[in-house]
Amino acid sequence: MVTIKSKREIEIMKEACKLTAQTHEVLKEAIRPGISTLELDKIAEDFIRKNGGIPAQKGYPSGIKGVPNFPGTICASINDEVIHGIPSKRVILHEGDIIKIDLVVLKNGFHGDAARTYIVGKPNSEEDQKLVEVTKQAFFEGIKYATKGNRVGDISNAIYEYVTRNGFSILKEFQGHGIGRQMHEDPGVPNYGKPGKGMRLEPGMTIAVEPMVIAGKPDIFELDDGWTIVSDDGSNTAHYENTILITEKEPEILTLG
Ligand code: MG
Repeated sequence: MVTIKSKREIEIMKEACKLTAQTHEVLKEAIRPGISTLELDKIAEDFIRKNGGIPAQKGYPSGIKGVPNFPGTICASINDEVIHGIPSKRVILHEGDIIKIDLVVLKNGFHGDAARTYIVGKPNSEEDQKLVEVTKQAFFEGIKYATKGNRVGDISNAIYEYVTRNGFSILKEFQGHGIGRQMHEDPGVPNYGKPGKGMRLEPGMTIAVEPMVIAGKPDIFELDDGWTIVSDDGSNTAHYENTILITEKEPEILTLG
């Protein structure tokens, strides 16, 4: 179901989104060679709870028999892992690793959702650097079309065209989404699609736009943990996401600084 938020609801939701952004800032400072993704997870959980939020991904149901609910506050995905990596004390960051952190904060009944990709220390290659930059820019290319009267497909197409024009692949099996009182609401926001198609955007809609990009071929598979999604060819990946608000004019990015 699509929910159009009132001014009052948006004000409350902005608090959750602000805490999401602040948590990312704290994590950015903590990322260094030698730290484990479980340590990063603990830093995020402590910060969120200290500031009146709840880590919304923690305990998220897998929906698959035999696969435990998601155990982490953050999804921490390294190199060929695109999304849904499980924080672990055995996963230690090394110089040149590409780490994706995705996190959702619930506060006062509303969610904020954002993902960032960082290279630990110096990049291993110019291509790695370009991958991270193109993925971030793809978000901004997409939301140029996130305006009243446009359609979801306009955003999707802009993201797809920008990423593929730069020589990378879009992961198609997962997508952005409406967000509000629920972590996942309608509409789905794919990272590929036809301009002029899909749901029409209206002021008061809040959506998470999130390009997921693979340096090599677009194929993926799921690890035996039932969560982690990795590139099939082992190539590196990136992810960038913000929660945005559709307004009468330009979209407002709710999970940035
Ligand atoms: Mg997310």
